[in-house]
Amino acid sequence: MAAASAPDSSLADVLAIAAHRDDVEQTCGGTLLRMAARGLHTAILDLTGGEAGTRGSAEERAKEAAEAARVLGVGWRQALDLPDGAVENNLENRIRIVRVLRQLRPRVVILPYWQARHPDHAVVATLGYEACFLSGLAKVDTNSAPHRPFKIVYASLYADVRPSFIVDITPFIEQRHAALMAYRSQYANQPTGGGLFVPEEEIRERTFAETRHYGLLAGVRYGEPFVQKEVGLVDDLTLVPVQSL
Ligand SMILES: [Zn+2]
Repeated sequence: MAAASAPDSSLADVLAIAAHRDDVEQTCGGTLLRMAARGLHTAILDLTGGEAGTRGSAEERAKEAAEAARVLGVGWRQALDLPDGAVENNLENRIRIVRVLRQLRPRVVILPYWQARHPDHAVVATLGYEACFLSGLAKVDTNSAPHRPFKIVYASLYADVRPSFIVDITPFIEQRHAALMAYRSQYANQPTGGGLFVPEEEIRERTFAETRHYGLLAGVRYGEPFVQKEVGLVDDLTLVPVQSL
């Protein structure tokens, strides 16, 4: 990754915020790989340490998260210590995220979709959105300059919702899988949680099938889905990115 660039360049063009280590790998790892391949700076903020998980300690997951970040070509990854399983949207947590937003100054923020099976994921959608808004307010004082991301998109791979758009991750599907499998404590076959977790050999088939499904929606092989709240604005109809009929 290029060390120096324009003086006003941000530390992260794209920042993915998630509740748990390995969430990003499951929902938008291929997209982060694609953005890094385009020369963009990418970053991940995990809000918890993963201490409530059935398998593995928070320390193990920290090491695995660092390895996954390396595989994803992510230049910056840190975790806050919000309580795993009890992430709350409160002012203190919003301000902690504001500090990171003002440090990294991302143009785009990826959040989890707002309807989710795991309550932490749903909370992060709102918590992250509100933090992005607060971060732009000069009167929210954190001893750092205000910064509001230009765009928020929601990673919707696990949501039963029609995506706004798909990112083609076909060239990165193996690296995406390798990043997920960096979490050996979670995904390697082991006695603990054996009845609860998908066997290691099935993870590849499942994750490839999920991304194949979304790829098909956009006419590519493998894809990751996103929802945006805003309606798109178009200048030139010949440049609207649609698949051919
Ligand atoms: Zn999660």
